[in-house]
Amino acid sequence: MADVTFTTSGALSKSSLRQGNERLVLNAIRQHPTLSRADIARITGLSPSTVTFIVERMLRQKLVCEERVNNHAQVGRRPTALRLRPEARIAVGVELNLTQAQVTLANWTGEITKERSVPRYAAPELFFNKIHDTIRTLTRAKAETEVLGVGVGLPGFSDRTTGKVIAAENFNWTGIEAGRHLRKDLPFPFYYENSAKLRALAETWFSPNAGKTLRDFVFVTMRGGLGTGVIINGQILQGAFSAAAEFGHTILYPEGRRCACGNTGCWEQYASDLAVSRAYAERTKTRGGEEIDAEMVVQRAREGDRAAIGVLDETAGYIALGLVNVIMVFNPEAIVLGDYAAAGWDLMQEKIWDVLRARVPAYYLSGVRIFPSEHVANSSLKGCIALVLSQYFKSFGDGNPSAPGNSVIIH
Ligand SMILES: [Zn+2]
Repeated sequence: MADVTFTTSGALSKSSLRQGNERLVLNAIRQHPTLSRADIARITGLSPSTVTFIVERMLRQKLVCEERVNNHAQVGRRPTALRLRPEARIAVGVELNLTQAQVTLANWTGEITKERSVPRYAAPELFFNKIHDTIRTLTRAKAETEVLGVGVGLPGFSDRTTGKVIAAENFNWTGIEAGRHLRKDLPFPFYYENSAKLRALAETWFSPNAGKTLRDFVFVTMRGGLGTGVIINGQILQGAFSAAAEFGHTILYPEGRRCACGNTGCWEQYASDLAVSRAYAERTKTRGGEEIDAEMVVQRAREGDRAAIGVLDETAGYIALGLVNVIMVFNPEAIVLGDYAAAGWDLMQEKIWDVLRARVPAYYLSGVRIFPSEHVANSSLKGCIALVLSQYFKSFGDGNPSAPGNSVIIH
């Protein structure tokens, strides 16, 4: 979705500038929900009259509301604070995993309001048709303009423009036109992104403290495999074909375990949830019996199960080996671990740090923080919502209203 269009002479069209200014104001209100009109003018660089013009229009459209602030110390006219009306706009998130799809509605402040799950069907086309029907049902009562878009988290190597899954080995999907089947005739914009990258996006968008948003960090997801999302200078690292940072398929042991990608000894084969589950089955000789997933292995370790404790100790070493590579390549301020590694972080962190200190020079390691994600339960879905909201709210450049080049003044 382009925010700016150019006239045939190359000049910015007036309606695009107006839309850009409107986004600037909306973005400022989203990021600071207690701003007055005067604050907005100061932050955005727009003139007070322009801000008033835009705010009045948004009030009429019921996009924002304005409330008096109780401040008894203030003499004279009490200031007013602007905030988004949560119900004014919605975003749809679609997360695909090995067993089901989650379809979610969230309002444009990011609060989830509705959720539906769609069980996975063996035939991908049938699966996507069911998800499409669910999106249609959930958005039926909404006007077209109320739906900001649909964010879809895709597994494996995918085309971000069309939503085609080129290869997702763990799903057994090759050349699947997911985007075409999901969208069909729905009128909203659809956005597609690799699910590991989305989880990194969720960490920045839904940061508990907006003032401490991470700018250079790596998210490691360990569900249905091992993926990484790398954020550099606040942006997702994409690479030439949107497939950058597949750290799950970097090599720990050249003669090691065979991986679904065709290589041997990939990090994913040693540190993913599937690897933990397999290692536990091998230790307890429960092959062919009850499937114990990685979260359950963490739980059993807490209960004193020696096999589970042994698997987590061994796996912590493998996690650390991969993190050595991540740290040496990206010089991140933080590494955020998801899934079972987040659930079992307290049990594994000592071993992980021991290995890192033994293998990474202190001057590379100092300042790097490693911590579990706060969005373990539904971080991928939150990433899908964040994908839509970040597309909508970014006005010009990186979506930072105070960034140079973002202040376009016209009304
Ligand atoms: Zn591999």
